Amino acid sequence: MTTANGKVVYMDNNATSQVAPEVVEAMMPYLTEAYGNPSSMHTFGGQVGSAVRTARQKVASLLGAEPEEITFTSCGTESDSTAILSALRTYPEKRHVITTRVEHPAVKSLCENLETVTGHKYKVTRLKVDSEGMLDMSEYEAALTEDTAIVSVMWANNETGVIFPVEKMARMAKERGILFHTDAVQAVGKIDIDLKKLDIDFLSLSGHKLHAPKGVGVLYIKRGTLFIPFLTGGHQEMGRRGGTENVASIVALGRACELAGEKMDEENGRVKQLRDKLEEGLLSRVPKSMLNGHKTSRLPNTANISFEYVEGEAILLHMNQHNICASSGSACTSGSLEPSHVLRAMGVPFTAAHGSIRFSLSVYNTEEEVDFVVEKMPAIIESLRKMSPFWKG
Ligand SMILES: *Cc1c(COP(=O)(O)O)cnc(C)c1O
Repeated sequence: MTTANGKVVYMDNNATSQVAPEVVEAMMPYLTEAYGNPSSMHTFGGQVGSAVRTARQKVASLLGAEPEEITFTSCGTESDSTAILSALRTYPEKRHVITTRVEHPAVKSLCENLETVTGHKYKVTRLKVDSEGMLDMSEYEAALTEDTAIVSVMWANNETGVIFPVEKMARMAKERGILFHTDAVQAVGKIDIDLKKLDIDFLSLSGHKLHAPKGVGVLYIKRGTLFIPFLTGGHQEMGRRGGTENVASIVALGRACELAGEKMDEENGRVKQLRDKLEEGLLSRVPKSMLNGHKTSRLPNTANISFEYVEGEAILLHMNQHNICASSGSACTSGSLEPSHVLRAMGVPFTAAHGSIRFSLSVYNTEEEVDFVVEKMPAIIESLRKMSPFWKG
């Protein structure tokens, strides 16, 4: 271990986050003695059912929603698919979907399948983003048609942290009688959300991005919005999602939402200060580095930085030797390094997109860790550039 305190420096929280100790404590009884089925008639199961109800209230409260509007699912991906497919089945005569070019694969792949697997029965409009990752509202307005069944636009981008104006976009869809879904997996717990006041029909969130375990998510369905389930089976979740509830993880997610609500303003302010210090430190100390994404309309925890003329994967390997965890903007698919679709959509130059690193912080990061990363990165980049045929520094 090479860090000051001998621990891993984890700055990859948009990929997944540490389960909070308070959350582990809350879920433990449901992995041990309280193993009843919440649907059972006996008191033993009934107690478990009441724990699920409490968790539902806690999630609802963080979102400014009603408990009946919360449906537990297995993950963010399931919630995304469920919302979009429900809309298409609710309005079978409508064949158009609007989304963006920078969605998470959960929405991106589904939309691709809507075109290819169905033999182009559906038409998908993917809204462009500018160099800061922001949408053009006039392009959006023009895309809304009578044939549009649903708009699915992420609240905050997982790679850059850029925040979209979903409140306004949902209102514009509503005015035209079009359903609106937002993938808020990265937004929940990081920015204030009050669904009561908004025209959002469906919202997806995921437990493991907000200090609950992997394998649990939520689909918010606004009261009055027509809904057709994806998973049918038993009567769980008010008939909206069959399958015996993942009780321990649901309880965990409830506790995680409660913690996020209690600590949101204070902790996100602190995380933002750390993120800003990291960002400024890296941009000022590493030549030819640049921030990807809007400077202010951005999550408090995310900094996506390009180091020109170096490979993201190589940077990550060197960071790994110092026990620093982050992500790169390129995914190694079938042996070829493809720069991320998000950075490509933003028009980030090839030489910069390849060397992009996403740092995503959490409440568990410390100033000492930020200082450590700012100290280590310049030498890592310099050593890699010395080997690059493109670097003429
Ligand atoms: C992680 C993530 C998802 C997928 O959530 P899972 O629970 O892992 O399925 C969807 N959208 C965004 C923006 C994400 O960051």
